Amino acid sequence: MAKRIDLRHVTLRYITDSREVLAVDDVSFTVAESEFLCLLGPSGCGKTTIMNMIAGFLAPTKGDVLIGGADLDGTKHDRGVVFQDFSQLFPWRTARRNVEFGLEMRNVPAAERKRTALEFLRLVGLADFADVYPHQLSGGMQQRVAIARAIAYSPGVLLMDEPFAALDAMTRDEMQRLVNDVWQETKKTVVYVTHNVAEAVYLGDRVVVLDAHPGRVKAEIALDLPRPRDPLSAPFVDAQRRILSQLGMH
Ligand code: ADP
Ligand code: MG
Repeated sequence: MAKRIDLRHVTLRYITDSREVLAVDDVSFTVAESEFLCLLGPSGCGKTTIMNMIAGFLAPTKGDVLIGGADLDGTKHDRGVVFQDFSQLFPWRTARRNVEFGLEMRNVPAAERKRTALEFLRLVGLADFADVYPHQLSGGMQQRVAIARAIAYSPGVLLMDEPFAALDAMTRDEMQRLVNDVWQETKKTVVYVTHNVAEAVYLGDRVVVLDAHPGRVKAEIALDLPRPRDPLSAPFVDAQRRILSQLGMH
């Protein structure tokens, strides 16, 4: 079941031996159930920090993060996470066994685990690669396995932090189409981090634009375009222009 996400006046200050860094400053936004939200901003503006707080890996210095209206503590296994890094898969597990991981954590019986893992590998177009190890897969395929793994155990929300930033442009386009299709099929609540405006316009129901360091919400832009979206259409180009002007880059 998809869950709503609320950030309320979230601030994060990193404190290291020598200095203090205000990474996220009083950020509030909501992601509705089954909404696809893109978090867009320049490098270093605090996107990953915000994701790590939503994932529960990092506690806010101030403010609250709620999943399905509850504090993070009460929703432990409720977030599927996909990172940029290709090395996020377990190298000693096959694609199928990687996808089974979250199901093992939930004590799903072996036969059902296998069936579910194969179903999600099929969803990301990797049915024929179930018994292959990560090093035998291309970067794009590894990210597809990571997506299958993140959603196979049915988390309430799916968090993706620049999952395709390290891929070549053609593979990235293909992966964006895949994410669009997977989301339309599963209707997860998604937070998708990117610094790429076209990617945000292709994928998002709404875009939260962040200011450069320290991260603050600069604008929220709703994207009311039919899917799948055509990057060459006038409304698409217009939406890109609106966002670029918010970023001060037009
Ligand atoms: P983004 O993902 O938007 O590129 P990050 O969330 O990674 O931004 O970083 C936001 C800011 O916080 C940056 O100035 C970065 O240098 C700083 N930062 C990130 N992680 C740490 C950390 N573990 N310790 C100290 N500063 C950090
Ligand atoms: Mg980042």
